[in-house]
Amino acid sequence: MIYQRSSQLFIEAEEVIPGGVNSPVRAFKGVGGTPVFAKSAKGAYVYDEDNNRLIDYINSWGPMILGHAYQPVVDAVINRAKNGTSFGMPTELETKIASLAISMVPNIDKIRFVNSGTEACMSAIRLARGYANRDKIIKFAGCYHGHSDSFLIQAGSGASTFGTPNSPGVTQGTAKDTLLANYNDLESVKALFDANKNEIAAIIIEPVAGNMGCVPPKPGFLQALRELCDANDSLLIFDEVMTGFRLAKGGVQELYNVNADIVCFGKVIGGGLPVGAFASRHEIMNYLAPVGPVYQAGTLSGNPLAMAAGLAMLEVLNNDKEVFTRLDEKTSYLENGIRKALEDNNIIFTINRVGSMISVHFDENPVVDFETAKNGDNETFKKFFHGLLHEGIYIAPSAYESWFITDALTYEDLDFTINAIVKVAKTL
Ligand code: PMP
Repeated sequence: MIYQRSSQLFIEAEEVIPGGVNSPVRAFKGVGGTPVFAKSAKGAYVYDEDNNRLIDYINSWGPMILGHAYQPVVDAVINRAKNGTSFGMPTELETKIASLAISMVPNIDKIRFVNSGTEACMSAIRLARGYANRDKIIKFAGCYHGHSDSFLIQAGSGASTFGTPNSPGVTQGTAKDTLLANYNDLESVKALFDANKNEIAAIIIEPVAGNMGCVPPKPGFLQALRELCDANDSLLIFDEVMTGFRLAKGGVQELYNVNADIVCFGKVIGGGLPVGAFASRHEIMNYLAPVGPVYQAGTLSGNPLAMAAGLAMLEVLNNDKEVFTRLDEKTSYLENGIRKALEDNNIIFTINRVGSMISVHFDENPVVDFETAKNGDNETFKKFFHGLLHEGIYIAPSAYESWFITDALTYEDLDFTINAIVKVAKTL
């Protein structure tokens, strides 16, 4: 496949946009080469500026569960746009989507809509800190909760229990309130609670991690976090920006039967428009302005286009009883195909999968946390990525990302993909 026009467009973009992109992972830094510029998309396919058809396994990093340009979503957006695109006033639509989301997700009474996953997580921890009247939070190395200051933190050196900034511009003052634990390592969490008695407002976690590849929680891990939070009067925040409305109607709370105190959503809940949300029980949500003291706001929050798209999407996910089973079956079929292709060619690999999130790591050891995720052979991943791109298969341009399967994929598409993987595996 030829990517001539994409390459030219990237050169032009680099002149006027830092790195040529509006979000870093798009720049192909992890895999080399120049990014593919999208022109249009329908169902399981993206068409690029060189008129290549790519089978899409990123799906806008998750939201296109039902496929690109999904007709009910497109119709909803067009119909709303004709009647005004933003009012800065409340609309009935916001109550409708709020009620539907609350009916689908366990354990939440109220929800507030924002414009991105970053905003959702940033607001969730402010709410947790305000409610608990404590400053510190625990996050897990390798989990991503957006680019707000409190989350751009890496593990501190040596014996220090608090984090240090991992981006210039994040202050030490902010970093000292974010404590770093290891995913799937309960002892690392207990140690932080012991060293910071009565100081921890909340734990925030991707309950199935998707930002170090797909990393499932070990059996009992989430429940143990729940118990630790209860014992220490801290809140448990599930960042379900990737997993919400994807792994089950009610997300990971439903999938593993563990209750969170605050749940964050993004992407999916807007059907591909810029949306995020956070939700909790009455007593916690009523801590938010204008009823409560914790301030949080947004001119475009609850924007009618985004709410219309999100509502159309959630209605289908709510009414289609089989959608999550179908997604699981398709992804399982893909998993089996990838396994066979790589095994037949004696490639060392590990595959992690939960439902329609799956990742391939080029390492023989289990990938259970950020340290083990980092062990993967990046050179092999790069070849794998570019080999697949050449065959018209678009996976995330980084070894640290999950693939997101869409229901728009047919078994023909999956067979096409598996055949491409067989071809690429021979070259690794
Ligand atoms: N949380 C998680 C789990 C995410 O995967 C992401 C984005 N990939 C975010 C938060 C941030 O969302 P956004 O990019 O919409 O700000």
